[in-house]
Amino acid sequence: MKAEIIAVGTELLLGETVNTNAQYIARELANLGIDTYYQSVVGDNAERLHEAYKIAFGRADLVITTGGLGPTKDDMTKEVAAQFLNKKMVPHEESLKSIKEFFAKRGLPVNDGNRKQGYFPEGAIVLPNSVGTAPACIIEDKNIKLILLPGPPRENKPLFKTYIIPYLQKYRDKVFVSKTLNVTGIGEGQMEEMIMDIIENQTNPTVAPYSRARAITIRIAAGASTREEAERLIAPVESQIRDRLGIYVYGEGDISLEAVVAELLIEKGLTIATAESCTGGLLSARLINYPGISSVFMEGVISYSNQSKTRLLGVKPETLEKHGAVSEETAKEMAEGIRKVAGTDIGVSITGVAGPDGGTERHPVGLAYIGICINGVTKIKKINSSGSRNRIRNRLANTALDFIRREIL
Ligand code: AMP
Ligand code: MG
Repeated sequence: MKAEIIAVGTELLLGETVNTNAQYIARELANLGIDTYYQSVVGDNAERLHEAYKIAFGRADLVITTGGLGPTKDDMTKEVAAQFLNKKMVPHEESLKSIKEFFAKRGLPVNDGNRKQGYFPEGAIVLPNSVGTAPACIIEDKNIKLILLPGPPRENKPLFKTYIIPYLQKYRDKVFVSKTLNVTGIGEGQMEEMIMDIIENQTNPTVAPYSRARAITIRIAAGASTREEAERLIAPVESQIRDRLGIYVYGEGDISLEAVVAELLIEKGLTIATAESCTGGLLSARLINYPGISSVFMEGVISYSNQSKTRLLGVKPETLEKHGAVSEETAKEMAEGIRKVAGTDIGVSITGVAGPDGGTERHPVGLAYIGICINGVTKIKKINSSGSRNRIRNRLANTALDFIRREIL
């Protein structure tokens, strides 16, 4: 089955509303193993919507629309579909009844626009909408299927989950299983190079790298007649990729880097404390995202000024004077200092120039040092990154988490 998604609404074309429906539906279709070949957006205009149907059915056999099922004149997705498929619009008694009840309950009169929401192209399968007044519908005609869904995501998603997924499952001849590996510590290009031959030589499973906000992921997806068979196809490819990438793979699926680090700390019974300068608590906040961290996370300080680094962490004034706050030496004393003050197994420090101002030749924007002291042994990582202040700070928190993970392992 080849699918196309058409999002209907002038507000989408004007950039006022982000087309999140298309993203949601495309993802669900991918999980079902249905290929989406095209997505389009069309305004509230009968002629152009008609044209969009024509183009879509020229290249797809499943078309899913969102939007344009409302009560106003500019909502016409159903009506144009009926016209396109040469079908009459007919009343659907149950929908009309529930629309009447919906308004009666609120003490409001039912107008023609509201009544319009209870009319459907002849032969349509009507799907009641328990969240709003616009029911969705499925129209089957010869070899094609057209699914019309309302625009508001809070109505669209439950309808898709309740009716559309079970409906589409009937038309699949295969089960699709996918597995995602999360990677950190290398760039996407470098990672791709390491597994290029695997990516290129696979058809089932397919192997595809994606770059996300905090990690790079590799999706391994296989189709087979049973779930077990699909998993059997994935297993050898997964282990081949894991062998190649080694420590760069930090987990699978939705697990976050902080959760992996937290679980490692808890498993090994290692306590930790953090001293952050330019990240201002991002690292500790990430760790504290993990419920149950209290058994290992003891404290985190934001030590921003030189004076604070000396007073709270015992960084020597001479060190600051001689090497500067952003230096290997300061990072070392910060990590050792917080470990001593907190009495933990691990002390972690971050000091850097987040910018956009304040960079010098010796200490350019993006230069940072992360220190980690585990049971008296201190290691320092020097980082040069670029971008906005936020990007630099987030990247530092991420790198620090990965540094902790590797040192524990
Ligand atoms: P409609 O069903 O066309 O009246 O749309 C109602 C509301 O749903 C719009 O005002 C938008 O806020 C929202 N909406 C419509 N289409 C989309 C879309 N493709 N993605 C996200 N939200 C949408
Ligand atoms: Mg609309």
